[in-house]
Amino acid sequence: MKKNYDVLIIGTGIAGLTCAIKLAENKDLDIALVTRGQKPEESNTYWAQGGIIYIQDDDKLIDDDIQSASRNTSFDKAVDVLVNESSPILREILFNKAKTEFTKNEDGSLSFTQEAAHSFPRILFNADATGKAIEMSLLNYLASLSNVSIFTKTTAIDLIAPSHHGATIHQRYEESKIVGAYLFDQENKKVLKVIAKKTVLATGGVNALYLHHTNGLGARGDGHAMVRRAGGQVSNMEFIQFHPTTFFGPVAQKRFLISEAVRGEGAKLLNPNGERFMKRYHKDLELAPRDVVSDAIMSEMIENKWDSVFLDITHESEEHLKQRFPTIFNHLIEHKINMSKDLIPVVPAAHYTCGGVKVDLHGRSTIKDLYAVGEVACTGLHGENRLASTSLLEGLTFGYKAAVDIQENIKESNFYTSEKIKDWVTSNEEIDMSLINQDKMIIKHTMWNYVGIKKSRNRLLRAQAMMRELNIQIQKFYRNAELRDELIGLRNSVEITQMIIHACLLNEG
Ligand SMILES: Cc1cc2nc3c(=O)[nH]c(=O)nc-3n(C[C@H](O)[C@H](O)[C@H](O)COP(=O)(O)OP(=O)(O)OC[C@H]3O[C@@H](n4cnc5c(N)ncnc54)[C@H](O)[C@@H]3O)c2cc1C
Repeated sequence: MKKNYDVLIIGTGIAGLTCAIKLAENKDLDIALVTRGQKPEESNTYWAQGGIIYIQDDDKLIDDDIQSASRNTSFDKAVDVLVNESSPILREILFNKAKTEFTKNEDGSLSFTQEAAHSFPRILFNADATGKAIEMSLLNYLASLSNVSIFTKTTAIDLIAPSHHGATIHQRYEESKIVGAYLFDQENKKVLKVIAKKTVLATGGVNALYLHHTNGLGARGDGHAMVRRAGGQVSNMEFIQFHPTTFFGPVAQKRFLISEAVRGEGAKLLNPNGERFMKRYHKDLELAPRDVVSDAIMSEMIENKWDSVFLDITHESEEHLKQRFPTIFNHLIEHKINMSKDLIPVVPAAHYTCGGVKVDLHGRSTIKDLYAVGEVACTGLHGENRLASTSLLEGLTFGYKAAVDIQENIKESNFYTSEKIKDWVTSNEEIDMSLINQDKMIIKHTMWNYVGIKKSRNRLLRAQAMMRELNIQIQKFYRNAELRDELIGLRNSVEITQMIIHACLLNEG
C-alpha cells in the first residue's frame, strides 16, 4: 500500500463501493478501498436478502411510507433526497455500470416485491439473495477500474487528526480535520500511516454487539468509535432496529434472517397456541412496522415464557418457495424444516443501526475532509425506525453523493505532510484471547438483556455502570497488548455500548 492516496475509503459494502465507482470516473484520482474482511465481499451488503427500493415517478406514497414507519421522525430533507435523486443513481450504478441482475417477470419486465409497511410492491430483488447480486456485480465492475486499489485484511484503527500545539480550544475546533487513517495490516502485523486528502467511512453498523443479531461479525461500530475519538458527532444511537423474524435454530448469536418478503408474500405469525396474535397489536397484522412486530413477539414470549413464535407460509407450494426463497428454503431444510409443510420458529434479533455518524446531505461529517456513508452514517432518513429495504438504497445514494461532493472540492486540498504525523507506537504484551472472548460475551449479554427491545431506566443504569468499568479494563489492556483485529474491535465495541446507553437514557420516551 502507498503512503498517500487522494481518497481513502474504509469499507467495501454498497456504500463504499458506490463511492469508489463514482469517484473513479475522474482518472486523476488515486483511490484506496480498504476492508478488514478476508475477502472484499465480506459485508452486511452481501447478506441482504429482501431487496432494494426502486422509486418510480408515479410513486406518490413513498414519503408517507418512510415517515409512517418511523412515526414521523425521519428527516424530511433526507427523505426528499432519496425520493428525488435515488432512481437515476440506481440506474447509472446498478443497471448500466454494474449490470446487477434482478428477478424479472415472464415478459422480461422487472419484478417487484412488497415488505412490511410498504403501500404496494416497489422493491427490486434477486430471489432471496439480492445483496450478494449487488455486492458481487459492484466488485466485478470495480475490477475494471485502474485507479482504484482494494486492500483486504486491513483494519482501520484510528483517524488521523493533526494536533494543533498552542492553539486555543476554539482554534482547534475550527481547524480540526481528518488527513487519513492508521491502518492495521493483519497479515504483516504492521500499522500503516496512510495520508489522504479526503477520507470516507463506510464501515457499516453496530448490531453485532448484541447477543442475537443478523449481521456479519464485523458490524461492531469501528467507524462510529473512530469518529468519536477524533471529536466528531454521532447521533440517534438509541435507535437500533430489531428484525422480528430470525430463525430460532441451534446456532445462537448470528441468527439467520427470514426475510420480511416472506411475510410480504403472505406468511402469518402464530404463537404456540396457534393464534394469529398480531391482530391484537396492529391493524396491518404481520405487515406492521418492524418495531411493532418485534415488540409484539417479545411481549408474547415474555408473558407466556415461550422460546419463540412461528411463521406459517404453508399455503404456498414447495415449488414456489424453492424458487422464490432458495437460500431460506435450503437453510431451513438443513435444519429439517420444510417451509411448505412446517412452521418456522422465529425470534427477533438486532438488525440495523438507524443512528450513526452525523452527516449532511452530501455525506460530510462534522469534521472537515471526513465523510460517512451507508449504515455507519446518520442522514436522519430512518428516524427512529427504518422502512424495510431503504438501507441499500441509502448507501447507494449517499455513497454516490459523497463522491460527487469530493470530486467538486478535492482540487482545493493538498496532502498533509506525513512527517508531521506521529508513527503508531506498538506494544508487545502477548494477547490472552480468553480475556477478549469473555469481554465480548459480557458486552453481548448486557446489551441484549438490558439495552434490548424492552428497556427500563434501572436496566440501562445497571448496563451503564457495568460498561464503564469494563471500558476502564479494556483501555488498560489495549494500551499494552500486541495489536490484533479482535482487540481493535473490542475497544471500539465497549465505547459504542456507552454511546448507545447514554442515548437511550437521554431519550426514554
Ligand atoms: C441479513 C441481512 C439482511 C438485510 N436485508 C436487507 C434488504 O433486503 N434490503 C436493505 O435495504 N437492507 C438490508 N439489510 C441492511 C443492509 O444490508 C445494510 O444496511 C447495508 O448493506 C450496509 O451497507 P454499508 O455499505 O453501509 O456497510 P456494510 O455492507 O456492512 O459494509 C461494511 C464494510 O466496512 C468494513 N469495515 C468495518 N470496520 C472496518 C475497519 N475498522 N477497517 C476496515 N474495514 C472495516 C467491513 O469489512 C465491510 O467491508 C440487511 C442486513 C442484513 C444483515
